[in-house]
Amino acid sequence: MIRTITISTLALLLLAFAPRALAQCEFDIEVGDALTFSVGPTMEVSSDCTEVTINLNHTGTLPVAAMGHNWVLTTTDDFQAVAQAGMAAGVEGNYVPPDDARVIVATDLVGGGESTSVTFDVSGLDPAGAYTFFCSFPGHWAVMQGAFKLV
Ligand code: ZN
Repeated sequence: MIRTITISTLALLLLAFAPRALAQCEFDIEVGDALTFSVGPTMEVSSDCTEVTINLNHTGTLPVAAMGHNWVLTTTDDFQAVAQAGMAAGVEGNYVPPDDARVIVATDLVGGGESTSVTFDVSGLDPAGAYTFFCSFPGHWAVMQGAFKLV
């Protein structure tokens, strides 16, 4: 009898948590010696997530100065201006404009064999807003970009 109750309780708990378990709040993204992300063109993030983690793994062999990649998030309105401003920061500045409020989050720039992670709060993002993720390495952001959506 006790065993039956325990199993029923477990089943109810599993049911209660099942929808939340489907929410994807963590993304493993691969980049390499080409101008592509392994995700996109649209990344969908559950509005159940308060924080999102991006794990960026560069599986290529080229060094950061030649084929560096990062993952940067801005509003779609700000994306091009931020990408252009980031060029001045140089490779040592991750090609991200420093102390720029338009940058919602940015990972470090990584080269072949390197990886990096960032976790950020998405509770302040507008579910109806348009956001763009991109690599801010010069010349990359024209093709390495996509939409970031709260769903
Ligand atoms: Zn890149």
